[in-house]
Amino acid sequence: MARAGSSIYPPAPTRYRLLMHRISVLAALLALSCGGGHGTPAPAPTGRSYADYLQQGQEEGPARETLATGKVDSSDAMNVHFIDVGQGSATLVEFPCGAILVDTGGELNDQFDSEPQLVAYLKAFFERRRDLNKTLDALVISHPHIDHTRSIPAVLANFRIRNIIDNGDVQEDIGGKPQIEMHNWLFQHNQEVAARNQARAKKGSKTRELPIGHLDISSEDVGSDGLSNDIVDPVAACSASPVDPKIRALWGMRIGRSEKGLNANNDSVVLRIDYGKSSVLLAADLELLSIAWMSKQYKDHLALLDADIYQVAHHGSRNSTGAAWISYVTPKVAVISMGPYERHLKTWPEFTARSFGHPNVNSVDQLLDDSYGVSAMREQPKEVMVGRRGAWKETPSEFEARVIDRALYATGWDGNVVVTAHPDGKLEVETTGRGDAESVKTPQLSADAASPAAKAAKAPAVAPSAAP
Ligand SMILES: [Zn+2]
Repeated sequence: MARAGSSIYPPAPTRYRLLMHRISVLAALLALSCGGGHGTPAPAPTGRSYADYLQQGQEEGPARETLATGKVDSSDAMNVHFIDVGQGSATLVEFPCGAILVDTGGELNDQFDSEPQLVAYLKAFFERRRDLNKTLDALVISHPHIDHTRSIPAVLANFRIRNIIDNGDVQEDIGGKPQIEMHNWLFQHNQEVAARNQARAKKGSKTRELPIGHLDISSEDVGSDGLSNDIVDPVAACSASPVDPKIRALWGMRIGRSEKGLNANNDSVVLRIDYGKSSVLLAADLELLSIAWMSKQYKDHLALLDADIYQVAHHGSRNSTGAAWISYVTPKVAVISMGPYERHLKTWPEFTARSFGHPNVNSVDQLLDDSYGVSAMREQPKEVMVGRRGAWKETPSEFEARVIDRALYATGWDGNVVVTAHPDGKLEVETTGRGDAESVKTPQLSADAASPAAKAAKAPAVAPSAAP
């Protein structure tokens, strides 16, 4: 959205080749998602050492923008916090006038517990943003898998919530239970609100407490331009900023329910947020099946898939990143929510990035494609490990080293990643580096310096009713 007129936009002949490529790849993608395809073998290792990379210098290619890092000016900006919760996902989207949290996941094993990390990160955030009164304008649960739902009860216990959004999938298993707990909590909470409002009415008071809003996306009509309403998009402009973020759900459908023998990842709630000329696409755990369906649904509105910041679908797994899809998104920056290569339990199954082989080398290759992949550059290249294959029982996963110079980040490589998106389309990236389980690193954002009066002016217009 923000890239029109910038130097990274491909010239016309390239665009034609890209279009033809998109058509052929979409056809292949559709065939694959219908069960007609077989996986292609992993390519031969092409990784270079960091020393080799520096010696050889950067390869010839198009001129690319390098994203600034350092002390970011976050005032009047959208900050997308990809929180390091290990293998899983939790993304906080901060606006001048509010905040939403997408997923509460993370890894839990002998070496790492994501929950204290997530809660500490959110507490530090609300300490900096006291004007928000510990209130999340929306809690979005993309789908009921444990790496996205683990800390729902902890979030409900510690923070106020104004709206809850999910895809209506109810599963009586380890991933579904925290979501069922959330539904029960919501029902009870709103019953108590109704009783209090009734008591007030009896006394002649006109004061009413607002119930927490709830939306089951799959029960609503998600049209060819997505779905938005006051629950999906509860953040407006305020005295702190004239920019009204536009939040819409692009997916959350009933195509991959486990009762159909398909993976519930395909039903993930996908959000698109436009903040002035900047945009972010949070793709949760979409797989190729739902990506093909989504591509079909938005074929007349492909601009809705074109985003500056892209949260890579399904932790960078092999079954979730195709050429056609990335050529629609054409991100400037992409972030993979996943655990680190270094965390290895040496048991089966271990549910770590090391075991899954995340991120997959084929996905990384697509994300770094010269024509349509991540277009901006990191300030410093980084040597990382990418998966050639996942583990299976006694057979370990296989990785190779790569040097990443483009603005492709991962929580397993970089720790917490915060992308600051300005209304004029300018982006900045801040990473904290990976910490250990005892320390929670939060980025230094310059909004810390805002005056208490300015902070107070940002308080939400409607006081939330849920006590933390
Ligand atoms: Zn997941």
